[in-house]
Amino acid sequence: METLTIGSHISSAKGYEAMGKTAVYMNANTFAFFTRNPRGGKAKEIKEADVEKYKEIAKVHQFGKIVAHAPYTLNACAAREDLREFARNTMEDDLKRMEYIPGNYYNFHPGSHVGQGAQTGIEKIAQVLNEVLDRKWNTMVLLETMAGKGTEVGRTFEELREIMDRVKCQEKLGVCLDTCHVWDGGYDIVGDLDGVVQEFDRVIGLEHLKAIHLNDSKNPLGSHKDRHAKIGEGEIGLEALSAVTRHPALRNLPFILETPNDEDGWAQEIRILRERFV
Ligand code: FE
Ligand code: FE
Ligand code: ZN
Repeated sequence: METLTIGSHISSAKGYEAMGKTAVYMNANTFAFFTRNPRGGKAKEIKEADVEKYKEIAKVHQFGKIVAHAPYTLNACAAREDLREFARNTMEDDLKRMEYIPGNYYNFHPGSHVGQGAQTGIEKIAQVLNEVLDRKWNTMVLLETMAGKGTEVGRTFEELREIMDRVKCQEKLGVCLDTCHVWDGGYDIVGDLDGVVQEFDRVIGLEHLKAIHLNDSKNPLGSHKDRHAKIGEGEIGLEALSAVTRHPALRNLPFILETPNDEDGWAQEIRILRERFV
């Protein structure tokens, strides 16, 4: 029987084993976590024994790939060079740390061009990726589709494609599609999911799509806001989000809930989406 690979964002404060246990408690078989404080700063030391306990849990419960999230403060296309240096160093350090759990994903927000223009943003992001991505890493880095809030780069599939086109180590680069973000960005996944998937395939290529952030949105199509809602309590709705999990081109990907919830709320969303996964 085919199973849905789904989980939520989990706090990494108590380490890997604790994240694994929380995922199991929620009946999740994947999850996401911040590699360090979402606002940046120094990462906690990783304990080998803790990682080993986590790996056992993941094996027993047949977890799919997990999706680490870079801090929000990371801006690879900042105007200030010291901020880009921070982005570069953080990504590099995170990829080193991901080697404890090889074969998973590391997702990041492409960046905000802060008035320099999308084209400059695209070039600067690709430059950082070219400095950091390397065949030696056993982690794939994922560009997240953005809502287009402020000066965010990555609000269209074309912008992500332009970044990808400039990256040399393409085998380590993929895309994570956030349903709230693409909806806010103007892609109608409610009225025409097939059309959006086809558009993604035409512009980026479905083979590069590696993970989905499954979120409802507090705002209407094309609002460029980025305010997540609980599944079924936003403008996208349960039926459309369930259809995303069931879509033939998407159904085998890991789905990550980033909804404003607690553990029991996520457990319930997971149960509801599993029930509808046919
Ligand atoms: Fe994100
Ligand atoms: Fe997201
Ligand atoms: Zn968001």
